Amino acid sequence: MTLVSARFPHQPNEADGLSKIAIVGRGFTGLMTAIALLKTVDRPFHLVLYDPHPKIDNWEEIGRPASTLLNSRVRDLSVNPAAREDFRRWLEARRNGGEVAAGNVDHAFVPGEVFSAYVYQRFSEALRERTDVVVQLRADSVTAIDRHSRDGLSVSSGEGGQARFDAVFLATGYGLRDGADANSDESAPGEAVVIGGGVHAVDRALRLLSAGEASHVTLISASGFLPQPHTASAVGAVSSGRPFPNTLLGAFRHLREAANRAALEGSGWQGIMNDFRLRARDLWQSLTPEERRRFKRHVKPIYDSHRNRLPPGHYERLRQAITSGAITVRKGKVERLATNGVLLSTAAGLQVLAAGRTIDCRIRPTDLGSPLYRSLFLAGLVRRDELDLGVFVDRSGRAIVEGERFDGLFAMGPLGLGSLPDIDLVPEIVVQAYAAAEALGVWLPDRKTVRASKASAHGTA
Ligand SMILES: Cc1cc2nc3c(=O)[nH]c(=O)nc-3n(C[C@H](O)[C@H](O)[C@H](O)COP(=O)(O)OP(=O)(O)OC[C@H]3O[C@@H](n4cnc5c(N)ncnc54)[C@H](O)[C@@H]3O)c2cc1C
Repeated sequence: MTLVSARFPHQPNEADGLSKIAIVGRGFTGLMTAIALLKTVDRPFHLVLYDPHPKIDNWEEIGRPASTLLNSRVRDLSVNPAAREDFRRWLEARRNGGEVAAGNVDHAFVPGEVFSAYVYQRFSEALRERTDVVVQLRADSVTAIDRHSRDGLSVSSGEGGQARFDAVFLATGYGLRDGADANSDESAPGEAVVIGGGVHAVDRALRLLSAGEASHVTLISASGFLPQPHTASAVGAVSSGRPFPNTLLGAFRHLREAANRAALEGSGWQGIMNDFRLRARDLWQSLTPEERRRFKRHVKPIYDSHRNRLPPGHYERLRQAITSGAITVRKGKVERLATNGVLLSTAAGLQVLAAGRTIDCRIRPTDLGSPLYRSLFLAGLVRRDELDLGVFVDRSGRAIVEGERFDGLFAMGPLGLGSLPDIDLVPEIVVQAYAAAEALGVWLPDRKTVRASKASAHGTA
């Protein structure tokens, strides 16, 4: 293994004869893609990972406190598709770390930082096994990608450098954001506003209260929905046994009937939802563009609140906080963030919510208007999906443009949400990363062969 430091001013070297691969973004998706490439591509290559603010790093060394909530169970977070128990085994091996009590570890929920440490360790191990691969971590952002004048792709990065790559994986997820508080007066625990209706927002609101950093939290959910609870122990997919419809309306009737039946039988809706999610990809492919738009407008918030669930303990604490008045839930759109609160647009009109602290936990898709994405659209390397959630991809993340041409560009994880439902979740990203690595292994030109044939064409062999 050769790992070149982020500060090393080195660009991929054409003379070393290695295939050049770039990954843009070092969140879970970027690192998972790197693991899959290291495990799958069976010839030497030079890998560069770009990210000025990597979400996953060697957090154990950094010693960051564990604070964020993972909403998936341990059993669903393995980065090894052939060993579902991999994360559990890793946790058990370091049980003295105390992240999870003894017992049914598979069903437990652990903090996000613990998962990050696991992912980083598996990345380091995969790297150690590849003495033939050069990996370089760069701390700059990618500002543009274009076709290279010879072949491959030209990547421009923050410090003005340009480098040629044979293949590029976009793993920019939710973009370049630091996720910091919008404003904060930590000396004055009082009213706080948390913006967002997802798991992260609820977790943040509960932590503000339990740490005494706020005496009351207003939780602003644009749709008015909040995450539903997980069951105490994991349930599998529960099928109704009936044929699954291929229209949006039919699918939701089917879902409602199945959930009603589950309620009558006392078996809960979570298993029905798990079954629905297994079928969601095929259903999505069969929907018309208009049905997809209707889904985004009317159904997505309900779908998200039932698929991204709160661990039962958190759900109970949320319920109690709402009942006691410690959390107030408001439905509305935040028009403006100010130093002393937010301007909220509700059905009753515009309102100012004063707060000593405002925390923005909204998840927004990648900014397709950023310089990087503008350059990609201009070069015709990617195509915006019809819902503006990301770009068109196939199941392995290959960017699909007119005429099905493939230029060595992949858009991984949440960037493909307009094409592949649930591709923002760990199990789906793991499968996609391996599919992409396999597709690349088949497609990647062997640089030594290319160089030899070019040299012989020029009579220099
Ligand atoms: C702590 C943690 C907890 C998680 N919990 C769960 C869970 O419970 N259940 C589940 O299924 N999944 C979970 N996940 C996975 C999660 O679903 C995915 O991480 C998420 O969907 C998207 O990850 P991402 O890497 O694609 O995007 P992001 O996390 O947004 O990372 C994108 C990275 O790209 C970088 N970037 C953006 N633009 C550029 C640019 N132009 N140049 C260079 N770099 C750029 C950003 O700085 C950022 O670091 C978790 C992940 C983490 C890390």
